[in-house]
Amino acid sequence: MNKTLGIVGGLVVALLPTALACGTDASCYGPLNTVEHVRHVKRIQPGAPNAAYGPKGPLEWGQLNFLHTTDTHGWLEGHLKEQNYGADWGDFVTFTRRMKQTAGNMGVDLLLVDTGDLHDGNGVSDATKIDGTSSMPIFNEIDYDLLTVGNHELYVSEVAYQMSTTWARKWGDRYVTSNVKVMDPATGKYEYLGATHRYFTTKKGLRVMAFGLLFDFTGNSNASQVLKAADVVKEPWFGEALAAKEPVDVFVLFGHNPVRQTDSSSTFSVLFGEIRKLHPTTPVQILGGHSHIRDFAVYDDNAVGIESGRYCETLGWMSMTGFSSGNSGYNGVKNPHGVANPTRPARPGAKSPFVYSRRYLDWNRRTFIYHTKQTEKAFDYGSGLRVTGELTEVREELKLGDVYGCAPQTWCISCVPFENSTNIFPGVIVPAVSSVVVNKTRADKSRLIIGNTGAIRFDLHQGPFTYDDNFIVSPFRDVFLYVPDVPYDLAKTILPKLNKGPVNKRHLATMPVPRDSCTDPSLGYLTRREMRESHGVVRRQEIVTSGYVTTDDWGSDGDDTEHSHIPNYSLPGYWQAQANFPEGKDPEAVDLIFFDFIESLVLADLGANYTAAMVSCYIDCSFTSQDFMLPYAKLAWQDNINNCPLAQS
Ligand SMILES: [Zn+2]
Ligand SMILES: [Zn+2]
Repeated sequence: MNKTLGIVGGLVVALLPTALACGTDASCYGPLNTVEHVRHVKRIQPGAPNAAYGPKGPLEWGQLNFLHTTDTHGWLEGHLKEQNYGADWGDFVTFTRRMKQTAGNMGVDLLLVDTGDLHDGNGVSDATKIDGTSSMPIFNEIDYDLLTVGNHELYVSEVAYQMSTTWARKWGDRYVTSNVKVMDPATGKYEYLGATHRYFTTKKGLRVMAFGLLFDFTGNSNASQVLKAADVVKEPWFGEALAAKEPVDVFVLFGHNPVRQTDSSSTFSVLFGEIRKLHPTTPVQILGGHSHIRDFAVYDDNAVGIESGRYCETLGWMSMTGFSSGNSGYNGVKNPHGVANPTRPARPGAKSPFVYSRRYLDWNRRTFIYHTKQTEKAFDYGSGLRVTGELTEVREELKLGDVYGCAPQTWCISCVPFENSTNIFPGVIVPAVSSVVVNKTRADKSRLIIGNTGAIRFDLHQGPFTYDDNFIVSPFRDVFLYVPDVPYDLAKTILPKLNKGPVNKRHLATMPVPRDSCTDPSLGYLTRREMRESHGVVRRQEIVTSGYVTTDDWGSDGDDTEHSHIPNYSLPGYWQAQANFPEGKDPEAVDLIFFDFIESLVLADLGANYTAAMVSCYIDCSFTSQDFMLPYAKLAWQDNINNCPLAQS
């Protein structure tokens, strides 16, 4: 990588404000790798802080309860720099086992559901040659009742094959992929990745029909096929499943698919409409994902849906009551005792026996301990501690804790305007690519470097910048390509054209449209409706740590822990850096450098005189968007590296 460290402007260093002195020991995240080597781990990943504030009240337990994860993107270690989300997958293992036991003791059902996007976003999943090689065995420690596939399992053929040859087999009919097929390399034929649907009976006698639906995704590699929702409903198996004589007490319509029907990429309504033609009042419980938000949507008097955020920040809870021997096979307890029960109809005046609850839980030990009525000392199970230990081992093997720099402040993607110096694009990405993305043999040329904002996936938090953070901020492997010596008068028109034109399709699939603030969850703290409406919510308690303030179809009481609001600004689709420009005037020509993934758009905007034959790899064909942050951290953030303070919150 050192070959890339050609030009270093004094500018870079000048941009850095003085780092805060380290306060208490607790606020320091030790030097280098030492925290990672603590072997006698009792709780959460070493170095991860616990939450300062906890849930507002007990959960409402119904007859049928759901715990829902989605878009975990490899964040099994939890958030090592954010106390709201500090729990790791081992803590979650313990929590789910305790919750299942609680449900058993109460005499009710609890289903665990995941709705996909298992990697691309964290070193645990992305630092191996094939994404997921180390993270998937850890993810599999949860005894899910239903799982389904996300678009991030389908970009890279090796990953799709890993899902079909290993995990789909392990999960059997619990892995429901109603519209995704993967090629069988032995026969060359496309076969359903998991089950098309699952009909099963719960412990308490509820007969469930489940469909798992990925949105109409088109960015997949040719190892897979994604059937459009409109075509799924024409499949013979689908008609047979709906018309089957076996009774269905509840449909579970889950998928990697936004739960809000007005979201342009959501396709749940297509299957929901078909279900309603034959089963007009049977309850339908919907669990969605992909748009990385907390949300709850009412479909009709007997159908509601939850979406549970992203990145192991949120655990979704949904419960319902209303089953009886007259309308179902339910043989559990009518109203579980000693706990709150759901009380709300799907909507006011609903003609339905069913009442519901929903809650968005913050992913931390405090939450888990509170809702299992445990103490810090008594909470852990051996199984959870073992998984915590495995995670620590994987982090050590992959060297994820290795520190490359000390980020002196936090830069966010959208909590401040795009032009603000504390925004990650002008604050980090532009200076980083300007100084690091340099082909030595062309270092004397002026450069314009263009990328898509959607490639940057997470805020950079103040504190040690680790190998892990490299994947957290910039997880994709987009190769830097270039066209040499483009007249500057033409090159400078590309960014404005890109930002006016349609955002590249793969974007739409990986990220919501960046320029539409209503669907941009880059910070994820807001529901889209909340972004549309002005804020007049009066909080009941003194506010606390910043984070999600969710408004959904039921209002603003869904967050389990109350937070202060974080603003969210919309982003342009693309960013640009310029480097080695002559002083005081424009260059005549520049090397125009861009990610491979926007090559066709850039060529189109350059016009007919430019063809793919004029494009080549800029540094080399293995230098990608995963490779510029570490050199930059080494370059720019060496102050206080041995005593690097985390942000105080
Ligand atoms: Zn996702
Ligand atoms: Zn997705």
